[in-house]
Amino acid sequence: MPKVITAREAEELFRKGEQPPAGAILTPSARDVFGGRSLPAFKGTGASAGAASATKKSAEPSIPDYEFKWKPGSDPKTPAEIERFFNSPAIHVLKERICDMGRRLWQRDYTDGNGGNITVRVGDNLALCTPTLICKGFMKPEDMCLVDLDANQLAGTRVRTSEAKTHFGIMKRQPAAKSCVHAHPPHATAFAIANVDIPSCLIPEAEVFLGKIGVAKYQTPGTPANADEVGEVGKIHQAVLMQNHGVICWGKDVEDAYWKMENIDSYCRTVWIAAGLGGGLHRFTGGHAKELIDLRQKLGMSDPRSGLKECELCDSADFRPGAICQTPPAPAKEDCQCHGGGNGASEGSKADPAVEAIVAAITEQILKQLKT
Ligand SMILES: [Zn+2]
Repeated sequence: MPKVITAREAEELFRKGEQPPAGAILTPSARDVFGGRSLPAFKGTGASAGAASATKKSAEPSIPDYEFKWKPGSDPKTPAEIERFFNSPAIHVLKERICDMGRRLWQRDYTDGNGGNITVRVGDNLALCTPTLICKGFMKPEDMCLVDLDANQLAGTRVRTSEAKTHFGIMKRQPAAKSCVHAHPPHATAFAIANVDIPSCLIPEAEVFLGKIGVAKYQTPGTPANADEVGEVGKIHQAVLMQNHGVICWGKDVEDAYWKMENIDSYCRTVWIAAGLGGGLHRFTGGHAKELIDLRQKLGMSDPRSGLKECELCDSADFRPGAICQTPPAPAKEDCQCHGGGNGASEGSKADPAVEAIVAAITEQILKQLKT
């Protein structure tokens, strides 16, 4: 009687870098475990692995799942077990993916110098993290560290980032957060240092993939106070603006968390550009927002706004874009009141006599002072 390998057993084998036993039968979900991932150790080896990839080709189209899953209670304990786990093929794949996301952060200008950090949870009390003092654009798999969720280092030759504690503030409170990415993307960080709420109900994709953006009050980076503050906000928000600092996002895997970083910075950049056009920001309705929040929940992502009424959803009506030119109503186009920038007012502009009088008085005073 051939052995039947379930998805859970396949996950365990994959994690250890082992092949299914010769002649074993894999359930469809177990085949997906091997078929949906690229692990060099399995390429063209073993009848079952070959069968898995052949079956995969004819199977229904699917979305690859890169979430790292482990059996609860199975964390390696002894130094030898930890080293073997840290150097296993499955962990190597994750290390490479962290390096890829680091490169993308740096290439998009989301990190400078040694800024930013990445974590991926790999056990009940285990996570991979990036080291301290390293440029995220040029990391190698051998630079990665293994730590517990109190940020005690368990493996790796480089010292782990102290900001991992902030990531674990979220992971300890929110089990769905399997990976966190922290960076300083300029557009979103600009909102964080200007202490301006990011307005909602402007772009549907942002409502679906970012959800309600959280704001964590400023605390010194790397401290327990920061971990607590960000953790409390991150528990219910997948993208968190850290006041006077930057952004931290979480996802089910490292690319998912990275995508949120792209989403939030792109959103803030677009809002900033739109605000400068002078026509105000056109919001969609609370009813439309509700549909998007429902869609987000159908995709398996929670949203703290799910219990709110439609009229409460578009909550950033107090957003005041720092526009320097306000577009006037259409009939009064020639009266455009542009302040600063450009080559002066249009020919049809009318001066305010009161303002003119003040300007004349100030000019007179300055000239007098220059003469003395
Ligand atoms: Zn930072």
